[in-house]
Amino acid sequence: MRGSTVDEPVISVTDLTRRFGARTALASVSLSMPRGAVYGLVGANGAGKTTLIKHILGLLRADSGSVRVFGLDPVADPVAVLSRIGYLSEENDVPGWMRVHELIRYSRAFYPGWDDAYAEELRETFTLEPTAKIKTLSKGQRARLGLLIALAYRPELLVLDEPSSGLDPIVRRDILGAVMRTIADAGRTVLFSSHLLDEVEQVADHVTMINHGTIVLSAPLAAIRKSHDDASLAEIFVTRVGTTASAPDA
Ligand code: ATP
Repeated sequence: MRGSTVDEPVISVTDLTRRFGARTALASVSLSMPRGAVYGLVGANGAGKTTLIKHILGLLRADSGSVRVFGLDPVADPVAVLSRIGYLSEENDVPGWMRVHELIRYSRAFYPGWDDAYAEELRETFTLEPTAKIKTLSKGQRARLGLLIALAYRPELLVLDEPSSGLDPIVRRDILGAVMRTIADAGRTVLFSSHLLDEVEQVADHVTMINHGTIVLSAPLAAIRKSHDDASLAEIFVTRVGTTASAPDA
């Protein structure tokens, strides 16, 4: 496949710096994410998680440093990169005026690799009524629909930015956890950002902690826990960062 070799990391970020005016959102960030794992990106509000994800999606251009996804520059080659990424944002902007089956039909037109049987299986698992108007769905159901759309073309990389904000614990644990595991087991890669450390702890293979735009720790979860006397991720975060991940970081 163009731009990829099997051993090449799916995401490779080198010395990425990004400023907004006087504020440094990312300071010389370097990361390498091989395929087939679930990567948790954790940090308090304002730590730089969304800014990093926007660079990976090619929505922001690096001030300095480089970003490669599947070996490609997502700013220079957006179609080649984005056609292989499933993305679900915190806002999860699904159009309220459409019905469930209309959004599914509309979305499938954009992706040659759309898998009808898988979309239908997800629709049933997520108990989404085809004729329901999207604006009548609960927040949890809208998140499930957003996830269905992000998954049904079987992307090589699934990016979830704070996917569970405002969702009930059942949606978070059962749906997100199962989905992430299934994807990684199939050799695909998941990157998800969260400030809910107990959730990250349940599904991530590898954890990256970010604080004030700087990576403070990035390693396999098992190794992190082992080197911190098996403390919980929340406790380790406080030790390394000095605040809890759910505290405002402004
Ligand atoms: P949250 O969970 O609150 O979204 P985050 O970790 O995703 O937090 P970012 O949204 O990446 O954090 O923000 C990092 C820093 O960059 C913050 O200080 C934020 O105010 C600033 N920032 C982000 N986008 C912009 C922008 N478009 N203009 C100015 N400042 C910005």
